[in-house]
Amino acid sequence: MNIPFIDLQAQQRRLGDTVQEAIDKVLSHGSFILGPEVEKLENRLTAEFGGFKCVSCGNGTDALILALMALDIGPGDAVIVPAFSFIATSEAIVLVGATPVFIDVDETTFNIDPAGITEAIQLAQHEGLNVRCIVTVDMFGQPADYETIQGIASTHELMVVADAAHSVGAIFNGRPVTTLADITTVSFFPSKPLGCYGDGGATFTRDPVIAEKIQSLRVHGKGKDKYENVRIGMNSRLDTIQAAVLLAKMEIFPEEIAARNRIADVYQKGLANVVATPGIRSGSQSTWAQYTIRSSHRQTIIDACAAEGIPTAIYYPAPLNEQPAYRNYPTIPHGTPRAHKLAATSLSLPMHPYLDMNTQTKIIETVTEAVSCI
Ligand SMILES: *Cc1c(COP(=O)(O)O)cnc(C)c1O
Repeated sequence: MNIPFIDLQAQQRRLGDTVQEAIDKVLSHGSFILGPEVEKLENRLTAEFGGFKCVSCGNGTDALILALMALDIGPGDAVIVPAFSFIATSEAIVLVGATPVFIDVDETTFNIDPAGITEAIQLAQHEGLNVRCIVTVDMFGQPADYETIQGIASTHELMVVADAAHSVGAIFNGRPVTTLADITTVSFFPSKPLGCYGDGGATFTRDPVIAEKIQSLRVHGKGKDKYENVRIGMNSRLDTIQAAVLLAKMEIFPEEIAARNRIADVYQKGLANVVATPGIRSGSQSTWAQYTIRSSHRQTIIDACAAEGIPTAIYYPAPLNEQPAYRNYPTIPHGTPRAHKLAATSLSLPMHPYLDMNTQTKIIETVTEAVSCI
């Protein structure tokens, strides 16, 4: 039995010919960069995700870089960031020349613990840095605590950039995640909940001036055209073919999010007394980009699953501030013990909208048996 971790082929079967037809259309009009599908996608994402202006770009990492550039964050500036994420979150900060200040996360939601923000502000000021921004991450699809974070941000006049690579399509207190920060960034990497067939990303903002600045930044800092350059920019556009793929996938996206939530419920109930299951904040709806359990017997579970042909994955094997390239950047004095512990205990199980009940039952039984033998 070959169980996929994420079943993109099942999604392809469901989409039928619609993706191929959308790609063929791009091949026939030949406008491969910033063709009509790109603007159509941006308008659709704006309309469906709460009205903030969407500007697409080359990938989710560039989306973060473009966001920080648009806010003029650079050398001498500090950006507060949770220590538990994919490396791109901190990489973007360093690439614009700013200094990441790492804080800890909540152990059950995997999300930034706002209690560390004030400590980070003090540390950064002590080091002579200008604290400008908090980058939040909606880990595994669940929105961070934006209510608390925005409260602290407005007290200290900080900008908030939300890394919603996992969570586009999620809801926080009735609001789409793309509407909760100064700029929200997303990734369309194939395995993300809203993925294309290559690299892709986007930013969302309420501010039309920022949106226009990002449109300029993604085309070499263009002015009236790309041969007039009014700022230092980069080359980061979403391919027209990828926009066409995403438009086709948007037709089924809401149903896929609903399916992911049903599947997550089954895991939550089936594994509640077996391992530590994800903590869910009331008022939020996750996209369940990953379903991630915690266990001090992680390797036993991995081995038992492997023996049954069940793939698992470790997100993430090390906190950002323990990665060799990032060890010299500041971490708050209290440290990030929970991020450290999560890196040692987290285990993601197969999760996608097409996971059938029999397979899921088998996964739950395998994990339960593995733990009962300890
Ligand atoms: C995937 C991911 C990114 C980067 O997206 P790419 O499209 O791969 O550049 C950023 N942040 C997080 C949390 C991610 O998981």
